[in-house]
This record gives sequence, structure tokens and C-alpha cells, in this order.
Amino acid sequence: MMRSVCPNVGKSRGVNMGRIDKGAKCSVSGCGTEAVRSLSGEKVRAAGLKVGNEKRAYLCKVHYKEYKKKTKKDKLYEKWRYSA
Ligand SMILES: [Zn+2]
Repeated sequence: MMRSVCPNVGKSRGVNMGRIDKGAKCSVSGCGTEAVRSLSGEKVRAAGLKVGNEKRAYLCKVHYKEYKKKTKKDKLYEKWRYSA
């Protein structure tokens, strides 16, 4: 039986986890879509997303997904290196 982990599991219902200002725009350069999440700019930059130098980075749905993907990958990578 396949019980794989669905990547969409956390499809947030409430949305109000990382409170953001209404109408905030995604900080990724060239995006400008409505943001759904605000994160530390440092973290976002570390994940390889192109945001400005502000302390706070706003991410739209798409870029937040990308951010999560990247950070997940990093973790996986770390695990790898440790177990290798
Ligand atoms: Zn975006």
C-alpha cells in the first residue's frame, strides 16, 4: 500500500500564521504578487530567492512554496552529508 507524503498536506486553512499587512506585495524582484507570508529577509536570501535588503521579506504563494522547497532541500542535503 502506498502511503506517500502528500506535498500539499499543510494547505493552510486559516492562513494567519505569519501575519502580514494587507496588500503587501511579494518582495522577490520582478514578482509583485500579493504576499501571503512574511519571513526574515535573511532566511529568504539564504534560500536563494532574490529579495531586497529589508529585514522582512514578503512572499507570495508561489515564492513561499519555492522557499519551502529550497529550505527542505537544504535540510535533506545536510542529512545526506551527515550520514554519508
Ligand atoms: Zn512572488
